[in-house]
Amino acid sequence: MFQINKYQKKQVSILNQRIEKYKVRSLFCEICLSNNYKILSKEDRYGIRMDYGICKICGLIQSVKKFENASYSEFYERFYNNIYSFSEEKFKSKFFENRKKVGEKIYKFLNKNIHLKKEIKILEIGCGTGGIVACFSEKGFDTLGIDLSSEDIKFGLNKNLKLLHKSIDDLKKNQKFDLIISMRSLEHIPDPNSFLLKVKKHMTEDGFIYINVPSLNSLFYTDKVNVINLKRQFHFAHVYFYSIDTLSNLMFKNNFKRVVINQKIESIWSKNLKNTNYEVKNFFIKTFIQILILKYFKSLIIFKNIFKFYIKKLIQTKLK
Ligand SMILES: [Zn+2]
Repeated sequence: MFQINKYQKKQVSILNQRIEKYKVRSLFCEICLSNNYKILSKEDRYGIRMDYGICKICGLIQSVKKFENASYSEFYERFYNNIYSFSEEKFKSKFFENRKKVGEKIYKFLNKNIHLKKEIKILEIGCGTGGIVACFSEKGFDTLGIDLSSEDIKFGLNKNLKLLHKSIDDLKKNQKFDLIISMRSLEHIPDPNSFLLKVKKHMTEDGFIYINVPSLNSLFYTDKVNVINLKRQFHFAHVYFYSIDTLSNLMFKNNFKRVVINQKIESIWSKNLKNTNYEVKNFFIKTFIQILILKYFKSLIIFKNIFKFYIKKLIQTKLK
């Protein structure tokens, strides 16, 4: 389990009592609408009580219970910052600077894969304090950020950024964007289908959405032992833990076209203008095997990655 301090432990135990009273909205998998899970863990990485499982019909790893919005709101207001210690001003500045660097990486990835014209309109959903918005604004793009945390928005507004304390539901119906950025936020959303439907309405016909979520696949490409730990990925705020396969299932089902995706799940999607009736594929066995490999062959993965790293270095020096 993750190391947490006494204060965080206390918050976790209060939350564990509160969870009992949280209203469950659904026990179903959003992708295939079944509720048939292979349970992987009974708690998250901090010891917050919650069942996490793989859907046996489509292979998506998820928290079995999806709560009502009011319960999630309480969690975010009362517990999220206390357990993850994001609320201090000092931390906010550091987070802002980090996200600005993340913005640079997103910009490079986008520019490599799609051509970004200067006059496009960009929206970031779940912008936090606005580091990514700042990065794109400084490059001259018309960029708007929205987030549900009033504290974060207040911090970003002091930096003269175009930010709104709003959800996607509060945007004007005819407000369209050429590029929507969703950096580490889709995994928090309990009903991704209705979210994606709204996203599509705010995309121009030839617009794109950039999606980055924590990735199951990336665990196979690390050289750090403690990273290859599935339980570390379970996190009360994250309702889903996607892989390339399961995220693609979700996106295809919602009629998006894949432009590019990599192991880290940096991905770009466009609107599929033709209506395809996509049939959800079952990745249960594949996901389950991936999990077994992560559990029992950790050292082999680390060995392979370190070996690859040195071979690459060797070839580079030989070429010089
Ligand atoms: Zn499913």
